[in-house]
Amino acid sequence: MRKDPARLEFEIQARDGSARTGLIRCGHGEIATPAFIPLATKASVRSLSAGEVAELGYVLVLGNAFHLHLSPGEDRIAAHGGLHGFMGWDRAIITDSGGFQVFSLAHGGVADEIKGRRGEGEGRAKVEISERGVAFQSLLDGSDRFIGPEESMAIQAKLGSDIALVFDECTPYHADRDYTARAMERTHRWLARCLQWHEREGPPGQAVFGIVQGGVHEELRREAAQKVGEAAVDGIAIGGTLGRDKPEMAEVLALTAPLLPADAPVHLLGIGEVDDLMRAIPLGMDVFDCAVPTRLARHGVALAPEPEGRFRIDLAKQRFADDDGPLAEGCPCEACRRHSRAYIHYLARARELTGARLLTLHNLTYMERLMAGAREAISAGGYGAYASAVLAGAAPWAAPVAATGAAAGPRPNEG
Ligand SMILES: [Zn+2]
Repeated sequence: MRKDPARLEFEIQARDGSARTGLIRCGHGEIATPAFIPLATKASVRSLSAGEVAELGYVLVLGNAFHLHLSPGEDRIAAHGGLHGFMGWDRAIITDSGGFQVFSLAHGGVADEIKGRRGEGEGRAKVEISERGVAFQSLLDGSDRFIGPEESMAIQAKLGSDIALVFDECTPYHADRDYTARAMERTHRWLARCLQWHEREGPPGQAVFGIVQGGVHEELRREAAQKVGEAAVDGIAIGGTLGRDKPEMAEVLALTAPLLPADAPVHLLGIGEVDDLMRAIPLGMDVFDCAVPTRLARHGVALAPEPEGRFRIDLAKQRFADDDGPLAEGCPCEACRRHSRAYIHYLARARELTGARLLTLHNLTYMERLMAGAREAISAGGYGAYASAVLAGAAPWAAPVAATGAAAGPRPNEG
């Protein structure tokens, strides 16, 4: 780890067991942790304006080097003020390296397999992986492209993100131990190349996070944690497959977390379901990005305090057609304050843009409140009670946050 306040500072302000709350300070402001990071993969949080995302309380979004390289291209974005200026977002931005996406082209369906579901092998484009990087054909226009460690860092430098992620290979669940080990070793060589390039040519204020791979194998995760922890990175991301199902993911995270430097900000890549977050925060994870809340919204699904329904309700279901209640009782979002489930059911069924927008506002409000509650609970020494209440079906804004048992709002049903 390096300590360079000109790039990034991480201050842990309170601990509750291994859970911690603090502040990440970077080029475009402060991020209170633990935090959820909405995806702005292609320079927009889908269906919302940058101003609306800020109004929801978010201070950090995640853009993607692979997608932005293909369109509109990092040079065009750089010519229009970098990603901040281009998308009209003056708060912090982290960019993903594109490693995940180029290897998805090769492995097929990595996105599904990362969460344990074997992909259908869709989108197998022409891809050549070598020590230098990955050559592939753009799915947009068929043009030949190449992204390696240096190219990825150069794209992210032009995008001007506050935090860049190193270029890595994200190995799928079906990869065997041998392949996972070889991929991890190459990822470590790429880490060194990313850092060398960045040292020479990267923006002086940009922070770089290394990525711990190693699949589900304890000794590989151990080796990766040590290698990345010793490198001159400003923070650490945990990537790669975490297992076949949630219990295995919990196991892999529990063995990986203690191996990381205690003072590193930790980003758990691509994980953001309500129960996953509640179980990862007490392991000392600080930031999380995930497509789920915004993608669900576009499919008519709202996050809700319903553990038996994976914390989601499908508004397209007929049973909501005459339901006058809000998406989630007590939710402060515009969709819940002004509209009924019946109306949003109708919009979702009719595929009206307004439906996707209202659900996105709701789902991102839900995630923001969930993390604000976690921060408050950690500060008050009551994280365990908060997480148990949320997992048992309390809304984030109604779950207790203090250790004394004094509830911030109505208590959840007990037993
Ligand atoms: Zn709401």
